[in-house]
Amino acid sequence: AAQRVIGLLETPILEPIPATQQQTPVGNEVRFHNVSYAYDPQHQVLSGVSFTLQPNTITAIVGPSGAGKSTLAQLLLRFFDPTEGNITLGGADLRCIEASQLYRHIGFVLQDVRLIHASVRDNIALGHPSASAQEVESAARAANIHDRILALPRGYDSVIGEDAQLSGGERQRISVARAVLLDPPVLVLDEATAAADAQNEVALQNALSDFAQGRTLLVIAHRLDTIMHADRILVLENTRIVEQGTHEQLLQRNGRYAQLWAKGGYDIPVAEEVQPC
Ligand code: ADP
Repeated sequence: AAQRVIGLLETPILEPIPATQQQTPVGNEVRFHNVSYAYDPQHQVLSGVSFTLQPNTITAIVGPSGAGKSTLAQLLLRFFDPTEGNITLGGADLRCIEASQLYRHIGFVLQDVRLIHASVRDNIALGHPSASAQEVESAARAANIHDRILALPRGYDSVIGEDAQLSGGERQRISVARAVLLDPPVLVLDEATAAADAQNEVALQNALSDFAQGRTLLVIAHRLDTIMHADRILVLENTRIVEQGTHEQLLQRNGRYAQLWAKGGYDIPVAEEVQPC
């Protein structure tokens, strides 16, 4: 798809909105109102999904692999629009918010992390080149990557792909630091899936709870142990939200979340449908 690059943070090209239709968000509450989405008419991915992301909270979306978690995050970023229903940010329909305004409000870290051949410092400051060394470091701390950077041969001056050889999860945390430095009121994080990065991912989620103060966070979780402490967990399955609550509430309920947890808490592939002969 056509993409526009803003400081290497890729966002879709959006049509300009006529002045008479433009809306301005007031506050950072995000609402999905009966949102349905299908990539093609035969495969409904989301059906009538409604929920609210409250400011000052972390909401996690969990569910089997292929349930539509990443699709849901991408709808919030307007990579595509709902086939039915709508999404609002601060009461304004996303389709009526000018792109520059929308992406100032909503930051994102997707699984497909783009780092450039430059120093770790420059990679973090990509969207905000005038940031001070202190600002870059505090963003790195919030993303739980500061100590790892200090352990590199040249610290923040180490160059990606040269003396900064980083794992997938570490690259993602550099990308989280980049998003944190831009200080968006709403942050969407599609977490790393690699099992090797699980420990880092737990530490990252803990570090992000401080960042959630005054902001709205949505985490697309591919493992359950990383988001145990989220304020609210939504379980997505068969195109709908089937359960919601805190980790403890959902375990007590002994439903789908409890089953996923008992199976090890990973993003489990949906069983293949067996066609009757
Ligand atoms: P999850 O993040 O829960 O693993 P996804 O949102 O990635 O789920 O995918 C939901 C469903 O939509 C899957 O059946 C997947 O194959 C399909 N899908 C995802 N992206 C695309 C796309 N770009 N085009 C067509 N189908 C897609």
